[in-house]
Amino acid sequence: MIEVRGYAAQKAKADLAPWNFTRREVGPHDVLVEIVYSGICHSDIHQVREEWGEAIFPMVPGHEIAGIVKEVGSEVKKFKPGMRAGVGVFIDSCRKCENCLAGENQYCLEGMTGTYNGYERDGKTVAQGGYANAIVIHEDYVLKLPDNLEMSGIAPLLCAGITLYSPLKHWGAGPGKKVGIIGLGGLGHMGVKFAHALGAEVTVLSHSANKEADAKAMGADHFILTKDEKFFESHKMEFDLLINSVSAPLDLNNYLEMLKLNGSLVMVGLSGQPYPIDAFQMLNQRRRIAGSMIGGMKQTQEMLDFAGEKNIVSDVEVIKAEDINKAYKRVVASDVKYRFVIDAKTF
Ligand code: NAP
Ligand code: ZN
Ligand code: ZN
Repeated sequence: MIEVRGYAAQKAKADLAPWNFTRREVGPHDVLVEIVYSGICHSDIHQVREEWGEAIFPMVPGHEIAGIVKEVGSEVKKFKPGMRAGVGVFIDSCRKCENCLAGENQYCLEGMTGTYNGYERDGKTVAQGGYANAIVIHEDYVLKLPDNLEMSGIAPLLCAGITLYSPLKHWGAGPGKKVGIIGLGGLGHMGVKFAHALGAEVTVLSHSANKEADAKAMGADHFILTKDEKFFESHKMEFDLLINSVSAPLDLNNYLEMLKLNGSLVMVGLSGQPYPIDAFQMLNQRRRIAGSMIGGMKQTQEMLDFAGEKNIVSDVEVIKAEDINKAYKRVVASDVKYRFVIDAKTF
């Protein structure tokens, strides 16, 4: 077994603290990735706090992993030591269902194998995530990272980046389309950058007045402050696509009113709470509410290549591992500019 240093929560809602654990030896198809940066996603916080239901502890969170290949198994074809490598939200899937075969592994009919807070495919090994200095993973679930981009800003692409890129592509964000991103946090700010790069007209809908200048610097054309109760009144039937990246419950009905004919409101934020919907707002203009979960291996690689081509990285604050708990508090207070990334040397 390979000894690893990381940070874990020993029980639900506990602070994260140093924890040593082991990874499996490098098998014939495995890659050992030395982690360089690990992003903090709001999903990490939801799971440590059991906001999505019962979780597995001790838990090493982290599914935005950027690193360097240290060692490869005898049969590995795609990676060599020294190459950049990324790991996202899942580390395996059944590989044979129709969704896996279509490259949509995140929707595997047997359930994707999450990077942490779940069991590996043997049904008994607890998967542990990226708040650690190394990870061992099958080469088919490792991504190639662009060489021209700064590593710390790449890590968040592995979850925040693909989670916004995928629905933007699926719902056709591009020239002539009006796209609104609700919530300018880790996910939202990647949505602004990708929607802008795809050529859409981009609006940020935020409850934080102090984020307007940043939103515009990231490529937003407009900014709507949602603190005002009537914020939607002057924007009815304006948008082709609204993506909700907010981590807390929200009144969706106001946002529905902002959609044009056949417009879609896509949920990526996961507060864990049910949302009351006024069906009248859906009937009118034949609007849709949909959801989207990260992206498959194929599209995640496409997103990384596109980011390399367009020079897109996340705006990050690099922190030491000992500051994870403070960072969690700031994320929950919507005070992240715009993703915390942990320097893996400090684990
Ligand atoms: P984040 O960095 O905390 O961003 C969330 C943003 O939502 C905040 O910055 C804030 O933006 C807004 N917000 C927070 N509380 C609010 C409130 N009470 N009222 C209105 N707006 C509020 O979180 P994240 O890492 O981007 O993740 C966002 C959500 O997506 C989480 O629930 C996460 O679990 C989920 N997620 C889903 C997927 C998927 O595959 N679908 C993948 C990753 C994460 P403003 O200050 O601009 O309003
Ligand atoms: Zn995530
Ligand atoms: Zn499958």
